Amino acid sequence: MAGIYIHIPFCTSRCVYCDFYSTTYGEKDKAYISALRNELRLRANYLQQDGQMPVIETIYIGGGTPSTLDTSLLEPIFEVLYRTYHVSDRAEITIEANPDDLTPRKIKSLRTLPVNRLSMGVQTFDDGKLRLLHRRHNGEQAIRAVHDCQDTGFDNISIDLIYGLPAQSLREWEKDVNTALSLNVQHISAYALIYEEGTPLWEMRKRHVVEEADEELSLEMF
Ligand code: SF4
Repeated sequence: MAGIYIHIPFCTSRCVYCDFYSTTYGEKDKAYISALRNELRLRANYLQQDGQMPVIETIYIGGGTPSTLDTSLLEPIFEVLYRTYHVSDRAEITIEANPDDLTPRKIKSLRTLPVNRLSMGVQTFDDGKLRLLHRRHNGEQAIRAVHDCQDTGFDNISIDLIYGLPAQSLREWEKDVNTALSLNVQHISAYALIYEEGTPLWEMRKRHVVEEADEELSLEMF
């Protein structure tokens, strides 16, 4: 058995802490999808074992922000995947999405894809901290997006949270965790904020615009 990860390197804007590769030049997306489709075909033999194609049990569409792409651009990826690889009927197929992209219309269109799991970049429900991180959603939008996805039939949702944010108290973090738990999602990932060299956040710390969370506090939050 095997899994396939597909990277969609586009974001509407860049978050201050992020060092993943992505570009905001969305107009290149059509060319990228076309190249990706070719690559999926050319790499078909790469997964072969003893001349046999393994069963694909997981597909993960990450990024970047795959939800920035129009569904009409995601469909052709699945078309090649299903035509070229042996995808299990029970495969877990995840797409990463940002709450601000998840309008009711977008959620409905995502349901037309063979996707059965959503991974949502929430990070925190605190609007001030979301603004500081240059995220484009607010806490209310994140909660609504989860509910709308559940109402539209998504029953496997994972949300990402970040702790150890600048000036975040243990109480604020507990509030984030409790809000996440109240949403009845199937999975929660929690990451400690990392100051990656070369990011705007790294510069902000250097200029003392933000202070890194105390290590003991971060540990307690964990
Ligand atoms: S949306 Fe995700 S991938 Fe894009 S800049 Fe923000 S954290 Fe990075």
